[in-house]
This record gives sequence, structure tokens and C-alpha cells, in this order.
Amino acid sequence: MFGPLQDAFDAAQTWLFETAVQPLVYRFGLMAYLEDAYAATEWFLLGLVQIAVLYALLRPLEKWFPAEPWADRHGTGVDIVYTLLHRLGGFALLVFALLTPLTDAIARLLREADYTPLQLDRLWPGVTDVPVVSFLLYLLVLDFVDYWIHRGQHRFRWWWALHSLHHSQRKMSFWTDSRNHLLDDLIRDAIRAAVALAIGVAPGQFVLLVIASKMLQSVHHANVPWTYGPAGALLVSPIFHRRHHAIGYGHEGLRYGCNFAVLFPLWDVLFGTAQWQREVEPTGIRDQLPAPEGQAREYGRGFWAQQWLGLKRMVGAAA
Ligand SMILES: [Zn+2]
Ligand SMILES: [Zn+2]
Repeated sequence: MFGPLQDAFDAAQTWLFETAVQPLVYRFGLMAYLEDAYAATEWFLLGLVQIAVLYALLRPLEKWFPAEPWADRHGTGVDIVYTLLHRLGGFALLVFALLTPLTDAIARLLREADYTPLQLDRLWPGVTDVPVVSFLLYLLVLDFVDYWIHRGQHRFRWWWALHSLHHSQRKMSFWTDSRNHLLDDLIRDAIRAAVALAIGVAPGQFVLLVIASKMLQSVHHANVPWTYGPAGALLVSPIFHRRHHAIGYGHEGLRYGCNFAVLFPLWDVLFGTAQWQREVEPTGIRDQLPAPEGQAREYGRGFWAQQWLGLKRMVGAAA
């Protein structure tokens, strides 16, 4: 079924590489990076396909059946910038450049300590022979890690200074998933990559895991009123995640918030942070609201203002 699609994708990758990327690589004398450039072209195209599919499916649904009706989409544009930066490879390249030495160092340390990756196969013989099963198991393990990262983002003041940027969007749409402080993304990706390395995920599979997880995360930020019915107990739905963004609930309720799960609500159920209310509440952060409810606190309008404010607040240089 995927044969013709795969062929079309490969042809597009070759075409783009030969007409645009390769000439640039030669022009700047970066021949040593030719292989990386080919991989980056694939990453870029995969991102383009993801964005096209998400846009074609979710943009009409947000327009016709919104969970929260808006008079206009003003203020959502900056989230598009984050998504393009994130999915089209700019950020992936940065992570690649910064994380490769780090993951290499971790791999070397593990080798020197005679640590062989914890192979799931040894805990449960035969399990990784079935690719779908091993894929789901890795997804589950990484999602467990994500749940605790997310708890940390709401628990520690310095980390919330970064993560609050994600929550400061008051018009949450499928673009909002990538609206994150770059440093926050980097910390999260570093932890995930280290765990993936430690449990022996193959690099090719890691790419697939990241794409599957990112696609689902875009869907559950969409402005659509889906709960997924009974399946919503297994997979985070847009309504479930909307509650995490709801003013007064997601960050403040149950002491430090609710519905932290990234893909599987299982973790919220196990650790007592699940909330199943279906009411659609305004999203954002309480202190953003005008007085007397909030303090009209600014989180920055544009990309650079948001990044700068996040950094300053993290180090305590801004209120
Ligand atoms: Zn959060
Ligand atoms: Zn979110």
C-alpha cells in the first residue's frame, strides 16, 4: 500500500537534493556533510508532508466545528512560525548539531562502563521481533518519560518560566503544539534522546517515534471538541489536553495542575492527575488576564520577544 507513496517520496527527495541542496553544499565547500545534507532533506520533506496533512485535515474542522469559537485567528500566526521552524528542520538541525556530541559522549560513557543498552528483548524474549509491538513499547516508555518531564515543567519555577510560553496562547489551535521555548525543547529532546539510547532504540525507529508522537500532539492541540469517546481513556484527546490548558485547572488545579500526559492518559490515571470534565474553558494563564482577575502579565507577542522574556524569567532577571 505504501509502495507508490514511498517511491514518490524518494523521487521528491532526490529531486530536491539534486536541484537545491547539493549545489549549495558544493558552493560552500561542505562536501564532508553531503550525507547529513541528504538526511536533512528527508527530514525537511517529512516535515512538509506532516504539515500538509495536518493543515488539510484540521484547518477546515477548526473552522466549521470549533471547540471554542473565535471572532478571528489573530494571534495564532506566531504558532505557525514555531511549527515551521520545528517541523521543517531548522530546529531539528540545531538539535542534531548540539546533541550529536552529547549523545556520542553518553554512548561512549555507557560503553566504557560496560553497559549494554537495556534491551526489552531480554526482559520479555521475542517481544522486539514484532516491529509493531516494539514500536508501541518504545512509544510507551518515552511517553512515561514525557509525563514526568511535563510534571517538572509545571513544578519548578525556572522550568515553568520556559514552559509558560506554551500555555500563554489563548487561541489554542493545531499549530500550538510547537509553541515552546527553544531551550525547553532542547532540554526535553536531550532527555528523550538519552533515554532512547539507554533502552536501545534504533535511530531509524527513533525518527518514526518522534514523527508519530508529534502528529498526535498537533491533533490534540486542535480547536476541535473531540473526546474520542471510550478511546479517549487510552489516547489523549483534544478535549483532555484542552483541560490542561484551561485557566485555573491545568496549571493550578490539583495543586500543580492536571492532564500532563502527552500521548497516553494512563499516566495521569496512575498518578492521580487525570480530569475528565468535557466543558470547554478559556485557555491561557491566569496572570495574563486583565485586573482584577489577573495582572495583564506579558508573555511577548512575537517569537523573539517570547524567547527573550522566557530566558530572563528563567534566570530571575525579569518578573
Ligand atoms: Zn503544560
Ligand atoms: Zn499543550
